Amino acid sequence: MGEPPYRAAQILAWVHRKRAVTFEEMSNLSRALRARLAADFVLARLEPAFVADSADGTRKLLFHLPAERGVRAAAIESVLIPQVDRPDDARDRLTLCISSQAGCGMGCRFCATARMGLVRNLRPAEIVGQVRAGIALAAPTALTNIVFMGMGEPLANYGPVKTALEILSAEWGYAISPRRITVSTVGLAPAVSRLIAETGVNLAVSLSATTDPQRDRLMPVNRRFPLAGLLRACRELPLPRRKRITFEYVLLAGENDADADARRLVRLLHGLRVKVNLIPFNPFPGAGFAASPRARILRFQAILRAHGIGATIRESRGQDIQAACGQLAAARPAA
Ligand code: SF4
Repeated sequence: MGEPPYRAAQILAWVHRKRAVTFEEMSNLSRALRARLAADFVLARLEPAFVADSADGTRKLLFHLPAERGVRAAAIESVLIPQVDRPDDARDRLTLCISSQAGCGMGCRFCATARMGLVRNLRPAEIVGQVRAGIALAAPTALTNIVFMGMGEPLANYGPVKTALEILSAEWGYAISPRRITVSTVGLAPAVSRLIAETGVNLAVSLSATTDPQRDRLMPVNRRFPLAGLLRACRELPLPRRKRITFEYVLLAGENDADADARRLVRLLHGLRVKVNLIPFNPFPGAGFAASPRARILRFQAILRAHGIGATIRESRGQDIQAACGQLAAARPAA
């Protein structure tokens, strides 16, 4: 637009840090520039079409993304999760779980979103827009953590996710430290290495199986990136000292929750700085799996702990509001 470069920083700060809703508010820009911006651009916001409140404090946000300029309409979800992960951790946390794609093409068999297939990749504004809406809904409580664990595989939408991470962590943006952001992936091995080299975020790898045949069955992506290569990529990551990789493991009754699975998991993770997050399966209609009984989950955890692996159990949240990822969007699709 022929403006000096520092104007870009001013405008970005108005859009993201000060969360202006009109160009008119941008008081350090000349009146003429504000008028040109208003004529040529739209200051769009993502507003939830629906908010579901759970009795346990979890709030699920549903967004309808309109079709425009060659992109399809889509429905996506975010979840606000007030959290005390560990009983010994008294700090209040408010985590926002966001989506990186509408639907997902990875086909994990225990996931409701997989049933939708991939609708489309989200653009950076649609990823950041979920955070902005989450901040507004949570106010005056501040978000403490962001996790990319909603709909979609973040590393299958690498460029827009990376741009969103830059905006979320920038001083002119949301100033959220990368240490408080976790990106969860099924393990697209080359992109895992790139993500850690290019951003300082925490990594969570969804594993959920301990042999290739078992993982091929539960997570078809394993046929492209089998366990050995994935774990090698994790071993070679330039992890800062004291940082650990989280491995997520969805426990499915009779599928992957035996003592032998726990022992194999110990062997697979040997030599890695890890913590394991055990996730009780959140059932959805037609899933074809059952959640592991509580006693089995505790036994699985005990085996990991006995071998020196920190293992926590993620408590299922918001079951009364269809909080299994993808359920709400499937029930209320975009027009
Ligand atoms: S678990 Fe994640 S990667 Fe797998 S299908 Fe569901 S949304 Fe996609």
